[in-house]
Amino acid sequence: MKFLENTVNINSGTHNLEGVKKVGLLYKAELDKLGFATRWIEMPKEMKRAGHLYAEIKGNVGKRLLLIGHLDTVFEPDSPVQTWIRKDTVAAGPGTNDMKGGNMVVIYALKALKEAGLLKDRQVIVILHGDEESSGKPISISRKDIIEAAQRSDVALCFETGTGMDYATVARRGSSSWSLTVKGNQAHSGGIFNKSTGAGSIYEASRIIHQFYIELQEQYLTFSPGIILGGTQVIMDSTGTEGTVSGKTNIVPNTTVVKGDLRFISEEQKNRVREKMKLIVTQNLPQTEAEITFSDGIPAMSPTEGNMQVLNQFSKVSEDLGLGSVKAFDPGLRGAGDISFVAQYLDCLDGLGAMGGGAHAPSEFINLKTLRDVEKRTAVLIHRITTLGKIQNKAR
Ligand SMILES: [Zn+2]
Repeated sequence: MKFLENTVNINSGTHNLEGVKKVGLLYKAELDKLGFATRWIEMPKEMKRAGHLYAEIKGNVGKRLLLIGHLDTVFEPDSPVQTWIRKDTVAAGPGTNDMKGGNMVVIYALKALKEAGLLKDRQVIVILHGDEESSGKPISISRKDIIEAAQRSDVALCFETGTGMDYATVARRGSSSWSLTVKGNQAHSGGIFNKSTGAGSIYEASRIIHQFYIELQEQYLTFSPGIILGGTQVIMDSTGTEGTVSGKTNIVPNTTVVKGDLRFISEEQKNRVREKMKLIVTQNLPQTEAEITFSDGIPAMSPTEGNMQVLNQFSKVSEDLGLGSVKAFDPGLRGAGDISFVAQYLDCLDGLGAMGGGAHAPSEFINLKTLRDVEKRTAVLIHRITTLGKIQNKAR
């Protein structure tokens, strides 16, 4: 508890590079003691990220395991939320729930196994990212090491915030964005709808967005227009989050720009829906044209058969410890996360971290009473995966 308190009291907002590394080095010392080969992976200076902690033990018994956490929080040094405040069995503070509590689960489960002599000859890689809350760009550099680790592992467990003792995460939706640009003819408003003026860019943009709303809805899919600018002088800045616009009620607008988000449960869903969106965008109102472009963010972690098997194994562990069975958490209720970057390479389970609430909010807290049970379950799950698990359908 004291160790957790220490880590929470060190500010490690993603952009506080020194703080992130300081927290990382505390975990590094613990993993060194357990016999892990540890190293700090630096990111190139221009990426403005602290880097990652990477730790590994080598062996050839059971399945090869990848354990995932992160060092950073959303609370930067200028946030009013800075310190650990404990009241009975609850402690509030930055990262208590997301996810310094989860990192503790990893460290203490491994400590227990080490003391019981059960890490011998196992292959376990621990990676704690310094930039989960705002991943360094390009992703090809900031997520290179975790992808390489995944490619030589069989199962990944991630210790993001728990969603109750009876749930774990077999799927997380991916995130991506889209950008719509609509052009029309600028003319006197009194001439709108006539042959040469047509509908104008705002009507056409409205048609497209409305048709998205009517035609695209399906399970686990969301598509949200986040910002719209329409008129005769439209300037969107390079971040896509700010801009200026001017227009007049007596002028038919010539330009409308919309930027939005698209969340999906599988690559199949993402690609299929993008095709539908493109088709809607081509059915232009008179004298308008429109173009939509897409950019990828975080891939989806799909609810695969393999992930369900890991969940079933976890549920059995929980039952054996008298803690009840564990079900799959609704992926519609969970955002994208780091495990999604590796989900295509191996079987995955997430949401194994600390119980609590208020992640990313000033009220963020951890429920200390459940921590021991969460750690116990994790230790036994790691033991079973790295001992009993036979390698299936994956070449070593
Ligand atoms: Zn997190």
